[in-house]
Amino acid sequence: MYKDVQLFINGRWTASVSDRTIPVVNPATEEVIGHIAHANKQDLDAALASAQKGFDTWRNISAFERSKIMRKAANILRERADEVAQLMTLEQGKPLAEAKAETLGAADTIDWFAEEARRTYGRLVPARVPNAYQMVIKEPVGPVAAFTPWNFPLNQVVRKLSAALAAGCSIIVKAPEETPASPAELIRAFADAGIPEGVVNLVYGVPSEISEYLIPHPIIKKISFTGSTPVGKQLAALAGTHMKRATMELGGHAPAIVFDDADIDAAAKQLAMAKFRNAGQVCVSPTRFLVQKKVFDAFVDKFITAASQLKVGDGMTAGTTMGPVANKRRIPALEALISDAVEQGAQLRFGGKRVGDKGYFFEPTVLTNVPLSARAMNEEPFGPLALINSFETLDEVIAEANRLPFGLAAYAYAKSAQTKHALSTRVESGMITINHLGLALPEVPFGGIKDSGYGSEGGTEAIEAYVNTKFVSQLDV
Ligand code: NAD
Repeated sequence: MYKDVQLFINGRWTASVSDRTIPVVNPATEEVIGHIAHANKQDLDAALASAQKGFDTWRNISAFERSKIMRKAANILRERADEVAQLMTLEQGKPLAEAKAETLGAADTIDWFAEEARRTYGRLVPARVPNAYQMVIKEPVGPVAAFTPWNFPLNQVVRKLSAALAAGCSIIVKAPEETPASPAELIRAFADAGIPEGVVNLVYGVPSEISEYLIPHPIIKKISFTGSTPVGKQLAALAGTHMKRATMELGGHAPAIVFDDADIDAAAKQLAMAKFRNAGQVCVSPTRFLVQKKVFDAFVDKFITAASQLKVGDGMTAGTTMGPVANKRRIPALEALISDAVEQGAQLRFGGKRVGDKGYFFEPTVLTNVPLSARAMNEEPFGPLALINSFETLDEVIAEANRLPFGLAAYAYAKSAQTKHALSTRVESGMITINHLGLALPEVPFGGIKDSGYGSEGGTEAIEAYVNTKFVSQLDV
C-alpha cells in the first residue's frame, strides 16, 4: 500500500543523482515500509534552477488563472483523500480519521488561499501634486524554500505552499523524511492539476545540509520553517546573515487556564481532546493546565476520565483514538521528562510509560502538582503529557502563563467578562481561544511571538509574508 517517494524537480518525479535513499519506518510496527530519494547538491542545484524558471512563469500568470489551477489541485486531493490518509497513517501513526480530516482540511486551505490570491490588492495614495499617482503594489517575493516537520505531514506543507503559490511565488519544499509520502501526494495533486514546470519542487535529504545550502543561495528569496525553537533560531540567524525574509513557526508550551466559574465538564473534555490529539505532537498542544483551586480536583478527575477513554493503538485499526508517537526518540525524551518531574515531587496520576515493546506507543499521561523547576514545566514535551497545577488569583495565573519564553497558543475557560478581557489582553501569545477550541483555520492568523517565532501562516497575513511592497509614483506628463 505504501509508495516509495522520489524528488519532484522541474515537473518530473526523479531519483536523486546519487541514487541514495532513506528508509521510512511505520511507527506502529517499526517496519521499514518504503524508501525516499535523498537529494545531494546536484539535485538541489537542479531544484533551484527549476524554481527560478517556475517563478519566471508563475509570476506572469494572473491571480485569476493561478486560482483556477489551485482549486483544481484541491479537488484532486479531495478525490484521493482516502488513499492519502492511509499513507499518512502508515508513516506518521495518527488515527486514520485524523489523517483523513487533515487531508480534507488541506484541500480547504488550498481553496481559501486560491480565493484570497485574487484579492491581493495594492492601494492608491492621494498625491500632493496634480496628475500624480502614488501606487502601492504587491509583488511576489520570489522562489521560496520551505522546511516542514513530521507531525502534520500535509498541513505543515499546505499552509506554506498555498500562500506562496497564491502570491505568485515558486517553491522548493523540503518535506519531512519521516513522513514523506503524504506530502508527496499533495505535490502530485498540483502536478496533476497542471501547475507549470518548476513552480513546485520537492526534495528530501539531510535537513541541515539542505537548509544550509538553500537559505544562503541567491535564487531563494524567502524562508519558511516549522519546527523546534533551537533549529528555528539557527535558521533565522542564517536567513538574517543573508538578508532573507523568513517566517518562523516554532515550539510552544501552551497554558490552558480554567477558572472556577467555567463549564468544567466542557473544559476537561475539550482540553483532553486537544491534549491527546496526534499523541500530543502539536505545537499548539495545551500543556500547562492551570486550574483554579476550588475546581482543581473536579477538573483533574474529569480530565483523567477523558484520558482513560482513549484507545491507544495502530492508527489503521478501527476504533483507535490515539496512535504511537511518530519516532523512537520521543519515547526516551518523554520518559526522562516524567521521571524528572516525579523525582522533583510531581504526582503521577495517570499513565507514564511506554505501551508494549513494538511500536512507539505511549500512555496518555497526567502529572499534577508539578514543581516549576521540573524540566517538563519548561521544555516542550511534544507528546501525550498533561501537567496540571492549581492557582488562586488572576495575577498569579497570568504570571505563570507568561513565565516561559514561548508564546504560541493559549487556552482559557471562564465566564466573567472581566476575566476574559484580562486574559485576551494580558496573556503573551500569538493566539488565544476562550471557552472553545478555535485555532488553525485557513482564514485566521496562525503564529507565535517570543521564542515561538514570527510571521503568520493563516489569514491575509499569510499572503503578506510572500509579497514585497513596492511604491510607484507616476506623474502624467
Ligand atoms: P528536531 O529539532 O530535530 O526537528 C524538528 C524538525 O525540524 C524536523 O522536521 C527536522 O527535519 C527539521 N530540522 C531539524 N534540523 C534542521 C535544519 N538544520 N534545517 C532544516 N530543518 C531541520 O526535533 P524532532 O525530534 O524532530 O522533533 C521534536 C521537537 O521539534 C519538538 O520538541 C518540537 O519542539 C519541535 N517540533 C515542532 C513542530 C511544530 O509544529 N512547531 C513540529 C515538529 C517538531
